[in-house]
Amino acid sequence: MTLRTIESLGDLAGRRVIVRCDLNVPISDGVVSDDGRIRASLPTLNALLHRGARVVVISHLGRPDGAPDARYSLKPVAQRLSELLGAPVAFAEDTVGAAAAGTVEALEDGRIALLENLRFNAGETSKDETERRTFAERLARFGDAMVSDGFGVVHRKQASVYELAQLLPSAAGSLIATELEVLDRLTETPERPYTVVLGGSKVSDKLGVIAHLLPRVDRLLVGGGMLFTFLKAQGHSVGASLLEEDQLETVRAYLEEARERGVEIVLPTDVAVAESFSADAAHTVLPADDLEGGPAGPAGIGLDIGPETAARFAELVSTSATVFWNGPMGVFEFPAFAAGTRAVAEALSKMPGLAVVGGGDSAAAVRALGYRDDDFGHVSTGGGASLEFLEGKKLPGLEVLGWP
Ligand code: ADP
Ligand code: MG
Repeated sequence: MTLRTIESLGDLAGRRVIVRCDLNVPISDGVVSDDGRIRASLPTLNALLHRGARVVVISHLGRPDGAPDARYSLKPVAQRLSELLGAPVAFAEDTVGAAAAGTVEALEDGRIALLENLRFNAGETSKDETERRTFAERLARFGDAMVSDGFGVVHRKQASVYELAQLLPSAAGSLIATELEVLDRLTETPERPYTVVLGGSKVSDKLGVIAHLLPRVDRLLVGGGMLFTFLKAQGHSVGASLLEEDQLETVRAYLEEARERGVEIVLPTDVAVAESFSADAAHTVLPADDLEGGPAGPAGIGLDIGPETAARFAELVSTSATVFWNGPMGVFEFPAFAAGTRAVAEALSKMPGLAVVGGGDSAAAVRALGYRDDDFGHVSTGGGASLEFLEGKKLPGLEVLGWP
């Protein structure tokens, strides 16, 4: 591993260091509702502040359209970051304009500022390399060095992730270093049995990981919305549950490959089927091969794995030495359909080996269920990034930092 670390940047006292964080957190009514990603950014920020650097934090939030949009302001994040650091955070009302220039200019040694949402500027995510570079150059004026620590965005070739890291002396922060260490263990040297638990909404999002991990894992447990495409591929009816018809062939091929490789693909044997997609929907637990046999008939929607499956998944997790989990087992946002996700989270939090939770919604789910990040071996801050890493893809935001 040749990832450049902060040490490679030399003495940072009195120098302006731009830190690309991923502070893309959920905000409701102007308040941060899950501060996991802000907390994950603290070690690098504190380390730089203790060295007397002038820290300029940049991040995106949500998907504004390349122009300022008050709904996506990072201001509430500045507030929360300040509380967590126990220090003031100067907030600039723009990203590369006069406000940002003034805020950076006024920054003292060992102090920190946060600039407004990167994506208020079209150059950040532009497909045009020149536009990205021009925006990155405007950002680069604010720093003598750049630390990349937004693991959640390293799979993106975006101005603040890729071009900026080329314009300034750059290195990875400790969050990225930690993420890589753990994810590398999952692909290179996992202790066995190695179990991967996949759920979430779409199979198509996870096909690459399945393809890359099948030769490496011992068991693949399938829950969440994608389980129905698997059940259908086996010839079962799935009512009105989430189904990706166009993935049936691919899924059949995976089932076949798994059989050949001796990988156990574990599908649910029972499912909680609801009469509508809503929090208070009437629901029944049905056998996986008879999902249309309940009161709702073919209109039934599977919203969670059933209790028998949950117990089996928990057992298989408990008896594994390594587990990677991505994707909730059901629509955990509705408490009535959170039991499967809770059962897996509980088993994961108790298992003695390496337990890794990856994925934005999965991390949010375990926190919403009352778990803390340190209940698990590692909670990845990057959904897409951790999946692409596990798919064996090259990530531009890591390559630019010397990885691999
Ligand atoms: P992650 O962000 O962790 O990678 P995904 O984005 O793939 O996870 O999926 C998360 C979403 O999947 C959640 O919002 C959850 O409600 C949804 N989901 C889980 N099970 C089902 C299901 N049976 N039907 C529809 N949606 C589901
Ligand atoms: Mg998601």
